[in-house]
Amino acid sequence: MSNNIVIIFDFDKTIIDCDSDNWLIDELGFTDLFNQLLPTMPWNSVMDKMMMEFHSNGVTIEEIEKVLQRIPIHHRIIPAIKSAHALGCDLRIVSDANMFYIETILKHLGISECFSEINSNPGYVNQEGRVRISPYHDFNKASHGCNNVCPPNMCKGLIIDKIKNTIYDGDNKRFIYLGDGAGDYCPSLRFKERDFVMPRKNFPVWDLICKDPSLVKAEIHGWCDGEELEQILIQLINKIIIEDNVQFIATDCKLQTLSIHVLESLPKALPVGP
Ligand SMILES: [Mg+2]
Ligand SMILES: [Zn+2]
Repeated sequence: MSNNIVIIFDFDKTIIDCDSDNWLIDELGFTDLFNQLLPTMPWNSVMDKMMMEFHSNGVTIEEIEKVLQRIPIHHRIIPAIKSAHALGCDLRIVSDANMFYIETILKHLGISECFSEINSNPGYVNQEGRVRISPYHDFNKASHGCNNVCPPNMCKGLIIDKIKNTIYDGDNKRFIYLGDGAGDYCPSLRFKERDFVMPRKNFPVWDLICKDPSLVKAEIHGWCDGEELEQILIQLINKIIIEDNVQFIATDCKLQTLSIHVLESLPKALPVGP
């Protein structure tokens, strides 16, 4: 079963309930060093350097994985993702974390197969057993050129453009975008009237949107926690499935109006449960 819906999730503070870099650094006890380095170079470069520090201080990949595996996540997030996947949506991640963290965490949570694509900063374990992290856009070569509040290593708006261009019939898909950070503002501006953005309430993306909501063409649905995320997401999916079916029936049968009878015959979506 598949439908016309593409759901794009941010990762940190959206799927998981904290920032993965901060979690790892704090749990491994490197907070002071991280705070010293942060003013001297871009975040993404600091993280690569932190991985070198972990390695030279004898922190193994297994230890890093163990810390990542106990990262906090709201208990309704996994059911929300599984329901959206079961309803036939195409699920993707666009994140300024890195591939190594995301793959490690999704695998541990048993939800890797729910996602068709992950766009994030490259991250891998090298031959010496050290994690290497590099920028999604190599800002040393050229700037991504976006004037929104995007970090130098990643403009999520450009990634959304790429996704729209590479998926079949990208212009006719219905998008739902979820995020919390300032970096989620640029992609929020990319969607059309028939799409949906789900900014996390009272987080940076919410504040940016609230400055002038009319700049966002998509319908805006704020959420506070995993429970609300699940509720709203499943409602939106059901709404789109019904709308698309009604439109299909209307154009197919050349009906001007639809009776209750027709609406009742539409496929039943999964119930929204507590
Ligand atoms: Mg985030
Ligand atoms: Zn941008």
